[in-house]
Amino acid sequence: MLGACHLSTGDIFRAAKSLKPCDCGPAVAEALEAMRRGELVVDNTIIAMVRERTRCLRCGGGFLLDGFPRTVGQAEALDAMLGESGIRLDGVLSYEMNIQEIVNRLSGRRTCAACKAVYHVTGRPPRKSGICDACRGELIQREDDRPESIRVRMQAYEENTRPLATYYAAQGSLIPVPATGTPEDILDRTLHLLVDRQ
Ligand code: AMP
Repeated sequence: MLGACHLSTGDIFRAAKSLKPCDCGPAVAEALEAMRRGELVVDNTIIAMVRERTRCLRCGGGFLLDGFPRTVGQAEALDAMLGESGIRLDGVLSYEMNIQEIVNRLSGRRTCAACKAVYHVTGRPPRKSGICDACRGELIQREDDRPESIRVRMQAYEENTRPLATYYAAQGSLIPVPATGTPEDILDRTLHLLVDRQ
C-alpha cells in the first residue's frame, strides 16, 4: 500500500519453519525453538539476518521494519547499519495498548495457513468457523499465540523491548500510537501521525 519494502523478522522465521530440518542450520533451528516458546531469538542471529537484507534499507520506496529492533543491542546494530548507508529513520511507531487487551488480541488471533489472512475469533471472525473467507484455507493459531507462550512474550517485551521507548524518545524519533479500535482505525491514525511529522 505504501510501496515500501516490508521486512518482518517474525515472517522470516515463520517461512523458515517450512524448511526440512536438514536445510536449516543450527542457528535457525535454535531460533525456531525460541520462537515456539515465545522467547526472543538471540541478538546475533537477528542482527545477522537483517544485515543479510540491508538492500531492503536502500529500497527506493522506503522500508518498514516490523518486529525489529526488539532490544537495545539490536537498535544499536541498526543505527550502525543505517549510518553505513547514510539513512535515517523517519520515525519509530510504538503501538500502545493495555496488557489484558494485548493478551485477548493475541489469544484470539487466527491466521490462514494458505494465504496468511488474519482473523480474530470474536473481533473479526470468518464467515465459517476455521475457514478463510478469502481462499477457503484452514485457519490456524500461531504456536506463539498459545497462553503459555504469550506469557513469556509479554515478559520478554517488558524486560527487553520496553527500554527501546526511552532509547528512541532520546533520539526524537518515537511516535506513540494508541492501538484501540479496528485495524483500519489504527492504520488511519498511524498515517496521520506520520504525515504530521513531515
Ligand atoms: P513477530 O511475528 O514479530 O511477533 O515475531 C514472532 C517471534 O519471532 C518472536 O516472538 C520471537 O521469538 C522471534 N522474533 C522476531 N523478531 C525478533 C527480534 N527482532 N528479536 C528477537 N526475536 C524476534
